[in-house]
Amino acid sequence: MKVLVTGGLGYIGSHTTVKLLEEGFDVVIIDNLSNSKIDVLDRIEQIAKKRPRFYNFDVQNKESLESVFVSEKPEAIIHFAGFKAVGESCQKPLMYYENNLLSTFALLDMMQKYPKCKNFVFSSSATVYGEPDSVPLTENSPIKQATSPYGQTKIMIEEILTDFSKVQKVNIAILRYFNPIGAHQSGLLGEDPNGLPNNLFPYINKVAVGALPKLNIFGNDYKTCDGTGVRDYIHVLDLAKGHVLALKKLEKDCGLFVCNLGTGKGTSVLELVKAYEKANNIKIPYEFAPRRAGDIDENFAGTEKAKKELGFVCDYTILDACRDGYNFQTQELKRMKDKK
Ligand code: NAD
Ligand code: UDP
Repeated sequence: MKVLVTGGLGYIGSHTTVKLLEEGFDVVIIDNLSNSKIDVLDRIEQIAKKRPRFYNFDVQNKESLESVFVSEKPEAIIHFAGFKAVGESCQKPLMYYENNLLSTFALLDMMQKYPKCKNFVFSSSATVYGEPDSVPLTENSPIKQATSPYGQTKIMIEEILTDFSKVQKVNIAILRYFNPIGAHQSGLLGEDPNGLPNNLFPYINKVAVGALPKLNIFGNDYKTCDGTGVRDYIHVLDLAKGHVLALKKLEKDCGLFVCNLGTGKGTSVLELVKAYEKANNIKIPYEFAPRRAGDIDENFAGTEKAKKELGFVCDYTILDACRDGYNFQTQELKRMKDKK
């Protein structure tokens, strides 16, 4: 099957591309490098021993997009391209609505025009569940009022895809990711945001290699085992595998399919710090800081549906993710120094 991967040079897209190539899929990437580096393409090839075809443009550019549809004739799309920083989305809401919504519209428009492309996988997020009434969160848990324009784009796109699937003969998988962490074991792929990381795991990585002095733990008075926030951290390679399984499900003409991708286990911030220290035999200095606005006590995924309908189970542990994340960050630091 030929798969168009938008945002294929990004964090989750690059790992998924490797997995797809390893599984024998033909992969075409579109990425405008707004949050990734071109070096990632070589690294994907280094790992998978195959080079995906690559197009550098904004998915919203309908002319360029159509030329790729005409020349490549994709049968499926995995749509990772989009902006994802919660805080930035509150500062620049229009930029988020524009990029996330219009890039999706452009792709759906192409699917209407080229019906041979009838499979679509969308990167949604556990953020659509908002503040949970109870955990674990199942796919039937209520969708809550979004607390950021970023979260709102995910809710809106889920609704648009649901409506689209009613009128067009398409198969759509809406995958709600919990918290992706870790990196490829080779140390070649991982998440290395510019500037101060917003998310916990990349922040710990930077503290681990001495690029930042200490971790601030946002809040120690949550209603959780140790007072720090609890989330469901899933290794990015497990997440990547989930996309391959989702494509296989779509191939069976399943229509609209909504599914969580998580481990089913909650881990607190302190537990993640301890796991990181244990996995890498290092110390992560931290201090408690005030709660971050909008944060919830706890969430973790119900995994029954993913297991039953995709055959999805996680292969990696939190310790694996901590080891792989540190390995990537260490190598990345070395690569940066060598470049200078
Ligand atoms: P990322 O920023 O690393 O990857 C996104 C990629 O898309 C980048 O390479 C960027 O250059 C590209 N891109 C953005 N807009 C584009 C456009 N208009 N045209 C072409 N390329 C464009 O992000 P990620 O962590 O890999 O996330 C991928 C998807 O998964 C996003 O939609 C994100 O919202 C979603 N998601 C991520 C997380 C997470 O914690 N990382 C959690 C839930 C959902
Ligand atoms: N967190 C923290 N310090 C940081 C970043 C995050 O203590 O520098 C906490 C945050 O309050 C939450 C958890 O780590 O309890 C996960 O946050 P992240 O931003 O990684 O993911 P979210 O679940 O908010 O999308």
